[in-house]
Amino acid sequence: MNALQHKHYRITVGLWLLPLLLMTLITACTKEDSVAGNTENTGKVTAAPTPVISVDTDPESIAVLVNPQLGLPDHYVPADLVYPDVRFIFTEMIEKRMMRQEAASALEQLFAGAEKDGVYLAGVSAYRSASTQTTLFNRYVQRDGEAKAKTYSAVPGYSEHQTGLAIDVSDSAGNCAAEACFAGTKEAKWLAEHAPECGFIIRYPEGKQTITGFTYEPWHIRYVGTELAQEISNKGITLEEYYDAVPVSK
Ligand SMILES: [Zn+2]
Repeated sequence: MNALQHKHYRITVGLWLLPLLLMTLITACTKEDSVAGNTENTGKVTAAPTPVISVDTDPESIAVLVNPQLGLPDHYVPADLVYPDVRFIFTEMIEKRMMRQEAASALEQLFAGAEKDGVYLAGVSAYRSASTQTTLFNRYVQRDGEAKAKTYSAVPGYSEHQTGLAIDVSDSAGNCAAEACFAGTKEAKWLAEHAPECGFIIRYPEGKQTITGFTYEPWHIRYVGTELAQEISNKGITLEEYYDAVPVSK
């Protein structure tokens, strides 16, 4: 084709691609972040043998497994912490308002989706540095003793909050913020049902304490990406079970 035809061709292709690009942005909460397997171009799903999934311990990976047995490198700080543009139960721009970039964007979509359903969520506590976790954990140990403290609070260096991928969520008024009474609320039910659409899982589900090491925390959501979140949620498993990792307490 000559130069003029070529230009026309490019413009035409560009015009066709624009709505596709917009569609991708609008439906980002349910369709992006394919971790494995891309069927978009072929439109056909090919059955593949179930791969052996090795435990992801890379702190930079959104699928990283952090639990009482698997800690983070000393003084690990995520490189891309940002302030998600969502409501928190406090107004200060402080550490616990931050999340990693990808998780922050997903959280914005999650909260916006909740509002469409008349559910108003607020952030309680997201990123936590190792030193903050040390202060918190020591306070809990003083109050409840070490054994009990460990059932609801992570030892410093072993907290998911230090990854910048986890956040505790409450209703917009901060009622039952990170407390057992959050269970069964409208907000907890909405989260359990819809969080995976935006790539979050309820990380410490009810009845899984021997596997995760933690008691039921319906308010603690962890970003793992949409594909992984939906698989974990559909199967009713934990991140430990997904990796076939050793249960935290046998
Ligand atoms: Zn938490």
